[in-house]
Amino acid sequence: MRLEKCYFCSSTIYPGHGVQFVRNDCKIFRFCRSKCHKAFKKKRNPRKARWTKAFRKAAGKELTVDPAFEFEKRRNEPVKYDRQLWQNTLQAMKRIEEIKVKRQNQFIKNRLRKGKELRNEADLKEVEKNIHLIRAPAAQARQLERRLVEVIEEKDEELMED
Ligand SMILES: [Zn+2]
Repeated sequence: MRLEKCYFCSSTIYPGHGVQFVRNDCKIFRFCRSKCHKAFKKKRNPRKARWTKAFRKAAGKELTVDPAFEFEKRRNEPVKYDRQLWQNTLQAMKRIEEIKVKRQNQFIKNRLRKGKELRNEADLKEVEKNIHLIRAPAAQARQLERRLVEVIEEKDEELMED
């Protein structure tokens, strides 16, 4: 039994699900659900619909180059049935899936961290730029500065923790 990928959203199509369209040049388009089929009929571009894998990859939201995908390509060729071999393949598939999920999560984490760093930088710049607002009355200023230092240190600690 084969698991196909949806032409539009790239999700897995399990046996008995979805529809397939065969164009008059014999190219087969498979869709996981009517949502994808309709989008295709309306000539929507999968790269432009935010909910598709194609969009996510094009927009750098997901891992695109990863050795784990190579395994997927390789095992896409049909194999002769052999109980032992099949079990091995199943095990390998499970393991690869685990690894893929793990890497994907790591990738997302890294992405989020980058955003956090940028935000911190922006915060610091803002403070630097507007320091004259804070500095005005001398006594108050010293207090505020101390508070600022505290805030910045806190942020630093947060970063260290990650
Ligand atoms: Zn789909």
